[in-house]
Amino acid sequence: MAQLGLNDILGALRNKPSEARVKVITKAYELAQTAHQGQKRVSGEDYVQHPIAVAKILAEIGMGGKTIAAGLLHDAAEDTPISLEELRKAFGEEIASLVDGVTKLGKIKLRGSHEEYYLENLRKMLMAMAADIRVIIIKLADRLHNMQTLNVLPPEKRERIARETMEVYVPLANRLGIGEIKSQLADLAFRYIEPEKYVQTKELLDKKFSETEKYVNQSIRELRKELKKGGINVIDIHGRGKSVHSLYMKLITHDMDINRIYDLAALRVIVPEVADCYEALGIVHRRFRPMVGRIKDFISLPKPNGYQSLHTTVFGPEGKILEVQIRTQKMHDEAEFGIAAHWIYHEREKKRRSWRRYIFPKRTPTPSKELIWIRQLREWQSEMGRDDDAFIEGLKIDFFQNHIFAFTPRGDIIDLPEGATPIDFAYAIHSEVGNHATGAKADGKMVTLDHRISNGQVIEILTAKDRKVPNKDWLRFTKTSVAKSHIRRELRRAGLL
Ligand code: MN
Repeated sequence: MAQLGLNDILGALRNKPSEARVKVITKAYELAQTAHQGQKRVSGEDYVQHPIAVAKILAEIGMGGKTIAAGLLHDAAEDTPISLEELRKAFGEEIASLVDGVTKLGKIKLRGSHEEYYLENLRKMLMAMAADIRVIIIKLADRLHNMQTLNVLPPEKRERIARETMEVYVPLANRLGIGEIKSQLADLAFRYIEPEKYVQTKELLDKKFSETEKYVNQSIRELRKELKKGGINVIDIHGRGKSVHSLYMKLITHDMDINRIYDLAALRVIVPEVADCYEALGIVHRRFRPMVGRIKDFISLPKPNGYQSLHTTVFGPEGKILEVQIRTQKMHDEAEFGIAAHWIYHEREKKRRSWRRYIFPKRTPTPSKELIWIRQLREWQSEMGRDDDAFIEGLKIDFFQNHIFAFTPRGDIIDLPEGATPIDFAYAIHSEVGNHATGAKADGKMVTLDHRISNGQVIEILTAKDRKVPNKDWLRFTKTSVAKSHIRRELRRAGLL
């Protein structure tokens, strides 16, 4: 196996690094080499290859120098003679606490039932996430490299780690919008959990790929020409592959019939501005006939995890079905790198402002969706206390359900699980709004309090000052654990529960 070194990390950085960044990464690299001196992995290679690979992944997804340095040192405080104190002295509080956070996440003892273990794992993830999201991103990179090298472990161990990856890490990467890591993790885990299905699906995918490759390339050539003629400055145009696991999931919902899946052959057009996206869509439709009902505008109405793009399905060369996705570079980076992309753009837009103020802004009018979600998580935790098992259990459900976004009349975004009602919305704003709710409007029209909010609706909550106790019936239809716990608490206080 090829040996990784410092240049592999520096070469993977997405922007030209500052001197300070190169310095901190180099210093961490040297300490990692010393700390892991003589240690070997199960595969027999030098242990330090693992933290180097983790740091390289972090560089690839656009993380900053401190996170990359912490990635290099993430196993150093636990398994080597180097202490956390020494790290703190050499690298400062921020890097040391990142390393500490990753170390703590790793200390999960396998005990009790599978369910208990899973819950414990998830709880630690959520706690760490609210404290510092970068800890989770390092942990995801750590897990990705461990999955890439899983074949050296004994079979029982492989399967357990693969299951945990599918149940905890894949949804987490998805929720953070890091599509790149999510699909790699899902494919690797799928391969060890269901080896036969993996092989079957992969064969199917490879066969389809060789069938579609020719006309995808032909469409790329034709579209490039047309877009140029139309005066569009195309940044990039490429075919996009589907992951084995996502194809399998789609097959399950389409009676295992591959002919019913329209996005197998897809190509992506990256353009500079939002306006170019719509213009390019028009040009695509002029060249290739669109399929009715398959145009999706995720730019005006983003997917719950923040994904933005225009999608259309057309009859491409030879009349074959082809999906075309059109987006700006920023949308593309956010789709691939998710929350990590916020660091890239944040650094470009506002240098020298700490990430902490960005994630937990005091008075920012429109912080981006993912960040609102993390801020909410943190608020819930401090409000509900750390050891409320019912709450964590509920949060698990909220966390992995599909999400929708609703708006307050002032335009603030509220992130809710699918099926949420105005009561969930009200408690998501503030417990007092929930406790005093008497009615609700959706897009200006009166609705019942058990109305199912749909994505993008503007919800207005009507309140009455004199109402003191929530209605017991609300427990039947509310979806979020935040709403349920508040309602129960108020009912108990009033002696009604
Ligand atoms: Mn590790």
